[in-house]
Amino acid sequence: MHTITFTRAEIVDLRFPTSEEHHGSDAVHVDPDYSAAYVVLHTDAGVAGHGFTFTIGRGNEIVCQAIESLSSLVIGKTLENIAADRRGFWRSLAQDSQFRWLGPEKGVMQLALAALVNAVWDLEARVASKPLWKFLAEMPAEELVAATDLHGVRDAVDEAAMLAMLQANDATRSERIARVEREGFPAYTTSCGWMGYSDDVVRARCREAIAEGFTHFKMKIGQSIDDDVRRARIIREEIGTARVLMVDANQRFDVQQAIEWIKPLAPFGIWWFEEPVSPDDILGHALIARAIAPIKVATGEQCQNRVMFKQFLASGGMQICQLDSCRVGGVNDNLAIMALARHFKVPVCPHAGGVGLCELVAHLIMVDYIRFNPTMEGRVCEFVDHLHEHFTDPCVIKHGRYLAPTKPGYSCEIKRESLAAFAFPNGPEWTRRATAKGVHS
Ligand SMILES: [Mg+2]
Repeated sequence: MHTITFTRAEIVDLRFPTSEEHHGSDAVHVDPDYSAAYVVLHTDAGVAGHGFTFTIGRGNEIVCQAIESLSSLVIGKTLENIAADRRGFWRSLAQDSQFRWLGPEKGVMQLALAALVNAVWDLEARVASKPLWKFLAEMPAEELVAATDLHGVRDAVDEAAMLAMLQANDATRSERIARVEREGFPAYTTSCGWMGYSDDVVRARCREAIAEGFTHFKMKIGQSIDDDVRRARIIREEIGTARVLMVDANQRFDVQQAIEWIKPLAPFGIWWFEEPVSPDDILGHALIARAIAPIKVATGEQCQNRVMFKQFLASGGMQICQLDSCRVGGVNDNLAIMALARHFKVPVCPHAGGVGLCELVAHLIMVDYIRFNPTMEGRVCEFVDHLHEHFTDPCVIKHGRYLAPTKPGYSCEIKRESLAAFAFPNGPEWTRRATAKGVHS
């Protein structure tokens, strides 16, 4: 690799007005404007790494500021040096002796870390001329371990255990690489079940999704039990008994309330109950899981870091591991989480949606399948059909499956015209709305 030095971080506060049509609405997040705190890491070599993290609108500027501040630890470094010590680089950001007071490894700083770390991996894969999933699929097991910070989780998975886990799958790795290139990986859709959709829209979305080949469907619950039962009935009528239904409460309940709420929905055949309570309530999740079996408890999209994942997985409160590409500390942290999920024999079914999360997990799910948990049985990756048109390498879904990305990089790059149009608050899409509001108010 030629020496490539990071020279400048370009940061964009990018927001899409998705709340106008209730896309993404759930019991708690009633008006999300899907947003990206977006970073381009420019270099002295004419190439750049693109990365982002995801928010739902207000406060995105705070994450952008955190990326700006944290990027001071990246600028001036070379890609060569970072690649020679990926774990050391990751720790130098995640555990910087002063920034760490703002987390550590949680909240806004963790989101900012994800954006920067994702951008660095994007560039590394671009320079290697491989899609990130393949770059990681082909990486020697020792190198993958060396990229992963297992600090805080070694009581469950240490370096030797992670290496043995990876090596156990090495002999059959090329078969799985060929399989994902041929068949992709199973996806499920959330697009039929947003809280704000009318019954007619729900029916139409179900029919579209069936026609597209989806077999797994998720609906949002938690505002009114009568509404939830009605919508579950509608979805079941549309999808029949052979297809699979999951529900998601987005942290709406207390523990006992969650256990009660799911009872009238259980007859509709629910595979998993997602985020029933606070994303920090490890013991609460475990209690719910015991109370509502055989319905599984799923969580992870707002789980802050690998140490939390370890406890969720060990306690039995996370029976479906919904890792997120942008909530924890980027690719490196997700490698640790995949190792933990494998150790505790919990299937990884990543969280996606928002803006760009589908593009990123299309890579991570392939890595998990090829390197960590070599089965597609009982595993699906979330898909939401919004905003893909803004990406230069959008994810591709065919017959209800994520196809393996083919372009070099991590599929993070957003088109220049989209960055300009939806920059907040001064992009034309936002100034136009502000003007219209001013006229009518
Ligand atoms: Mg969810």
